[in-house]
Amino acid sequence: MLTLRTWMQELRLRLLHLFFDTRYLAHRVGDLPEQIHERRIYLVGESEAPWLIAFQCPCGCGSLIQLNTLKEAKPRWTYEYHRFEHISLDPSVWRKVGCKSHFWIRKGKVVWC
Ligand SMILES: [Zn+2]
Repeated sequence: MLTLRTWMQELRLRLLHLFFDTRYLAHRVGDLPEQIHERRIYLVGESEAPWLIAFQCPCGCGSLIQLNTLKEAKPRWTYEYHRFEHISLDPSVWRKVGCKSHFWIRKGKVVWC
């Protein structure tokens, strides 16, 4: 069910996508949606502590990249939240399979290695 809050969040993100059309925008969700927006980085989990970061590979291969944020697990990624839902990820993402893409996400921008 689409609540007013999620509807407002969606509206805000769509407007931000218009302004920042080449950047990824962070989107907090309880569960990963079936339809993945190609320019969103999903922070998946209840509350302020997501356990998963998921987004579509920026190379265009269509793969869904899923990064673990749990302290106990390795490898583990951390993120920094900036204004306008821009997000930075640490460390870089290096796919060992498929397209083998290697890049950083810095304030929502893809920086290729
Ligand atoms: Zn790729």
